[in-house]
Amino acid sequence: MKTEITNIVFPRITDHKVKFNCERNNIFEVRTGNNNSGLYAKQEIKIDEVICYLIGETSDSPTKYTVQIYKDKHVNPPEAADESAYLWKYINHSCQPVIYVDFTDFSFRAIRDIGHGEEITFNYNTSEYEIARPFKCNCRSQKCYGLVQGYKYLTEIEKKEIMKYTAEHLIRIDG
Ligand SMILES: [Zn+2]
Repeated sequence: MKTEITNIVFPRITDHKVKFNCERNNIFEVRTGNNNSGLYAKQEIKIDEVICYLIGETSDSPTKYTVQIYKDKHVNPPEAADESAYLWKYINHSCQPVIYVDFTDFSFRAIRDIGHGEEITFNYNTSEYEIARPFKCNCRSQKCYGLVQGYKYLTEIEKKEIMKYTAEHLIRIDG
């Protein structure tokens, strides 16, 4: 199914955020594996530090690469854009992640201090209601969900566990 790009208003791509994201390229590297890429820290990152900002174009349906920000709004990295401002697209899921999305300013922030060489991951179930392409997780954490399908499919206990980092739109859609 083709995703229709509706507009580029929310979250706004500002010069400040583009510049910030580009500067963060010194701190991270993209590593490419067999059939996946991931973002890794090249230096230590402090708890609550901004990793980068979620900027891009919005569409009304999800894809493998989008991040949901509202009921029918999903952020895409623009196709022809300067890659370095959109490193967030390489951030993989983990059931025990090291970062979260702060939806008040659309930033990715560190949950805890992150060490040199660690992979930057966030919990897709905290932003996505229904994941476009559910996948089997291999994060090996004790609390691994197994199949990652989105917030909608979590148990009430699982929802409680991630409440602190869950996007408000998910709670509203779910309610
Ligand atoms: Zn997992």
